[in-house]
Amino acid sequence: MKILKNADILTMNDGPVLQRGDLWIAEGRIIKIAAEEENGPGEHSGGMGKTAWEGAEAVPPETEIFDCTGCTVMPGLIDAHCHFDQSYMADFFLASGVTSVRSLRGFEGHAGWRDEILAGTRRGPYIYSSGPVYDGEDPSIPHNDNVILYSREDVEAAIAFVKSQGFLWMKTYPMIEPELYRYLLRRCEEENLPVCGHMTKRMEHRYLADHGYTCCEHTSSLPADPEEIRYMAEAGMWFCPTHVVCETLPDYVWNGKQLRDLPHYEDLPECIRRKWEEDNAVIIENYRKWNVHPDFQMIIDRAKTFLRYSDKVMAGTDCPYPGIVPGFAMADELEKLVNVYGMSVYQALQAATVRPAEYIGIEKEKGRILPGMDADLVVLEGNPLDNIGNVRRVKQVFQGTRDWNRETLQSYLTAAGRLKKEEIEVILGKDGQPLD
Ligand SMILES: [Zn+2]
Repeated sequence: MKILKNADILTMNDGPVLQRGDLWIAEGRIIKIAAEEENGPGEHSGGMGKTAWEGAEAVPPETEIFDCTGCTVMPGLIDAHCHFDQSYMADFFLASGVTSVRSLRGFEGHAGWRDEILAGTRRGPYIYSSGPVYDGEDPSIPHNDNVILYSREDVEAAIAFVKSQGFLWMKTYPMIEPELYRYLLRRCEEENLPVCGHMTKRMEHRYLADHGYTCCEHTSSLPADPEEIRYMAEAGMWFCPTHVVCETLPDYVWNGKQLRDLPHYEDLPECIRRKWEEDNAVIIENYRKWNVHPDFQMIIDRAKTFLRYSDKVMAGTDCPYPGIVPGFAMADELEKLVNVYGMSVYQALQAATVRPAEYIGIEKEKGRILPGMDADLVVLEGNPLDNIGNVRRVKQVFQGTRDWNRETLQSYLTAAGRLKKEEIEVILGKDGQPLD
């Protein structure tokens, strides 16, 4: 048994923060929330099952007590768009309070890591993964890890692989032939396999919205026509802006930003920093050569159009793209959702907890603080509702039966940062090669 004592509890259950409450954990689950102070009888807890304060004598022996005076406890964050395929990333996620990830390019290695993390034999965020990226032939990308679909047989094999690995989504890229893509959508619907990815521009967005295409990844993928965006939103499609990665382009190419300016950059392994510098140099050179100046206001306006019609929005980062530090970039994305997209702080926090849990289908276990739910929790020094930046002030992280304090998490980060290239486990792509 563990008790988080004297905590302000941000349940994400649409009620106010519970003041100076105690949160009881047993066997990796929240079993009781006892608030010493209530703001009013009953109604504020929104049916969250809060029990009356039962006093110290009810505490069983050998209970571990965590003094959370002055701290806010909230559900563990979920990065709703990332690529968790290098082992060093695991501790970066946990140290920043990310206890689950939606990983969007799954190979057999991901299924292995997912199972080991669930079993407690590997440390890292819980993994909810799509299958590999399926695409049509694209001569502009000569070497990549995308799996090319040429025929209906290929589609069947892809569906079979995704299901055999227990992956949750079929991830597609835009180059699949429209007729074959319609077949894929139909078959995925029959197999209850939601489709997501980079939206094809070769077919109507309305058609996609009506045929099992469940999530638009990246703000830059939204169509130009506001009526189409409205249709998608009202049809129930989800949206994961990953604004933080969209903005890396002008920041590094035109605004003089340097990778070394990033918070926690120095914590990254040296080989990763070197690779990011090299990759970023190529990106910068190309965009300068082609004189690419994306119209960011236009892109932001499209996102705001979506938000006008839907709250099905998830916070994702696209780490480990160069400049997107695993885990810690979630705070950057949440700040963008508030400061750039005009979401309220509470909506932004929903996008990192309740909403991805709903999209993934784990809303009964994760994303809120309620009796019976998994004990995936972050203890923050300060209330993120006062200042979204307080999500950076992680004091303690709970994930099921495990928990780590800041010192332990920092020691993991330090150790991860010292890993040499050959010591980092890397998930292999379709040809048994490391993913790029
Ligand atoms: Zn991505």
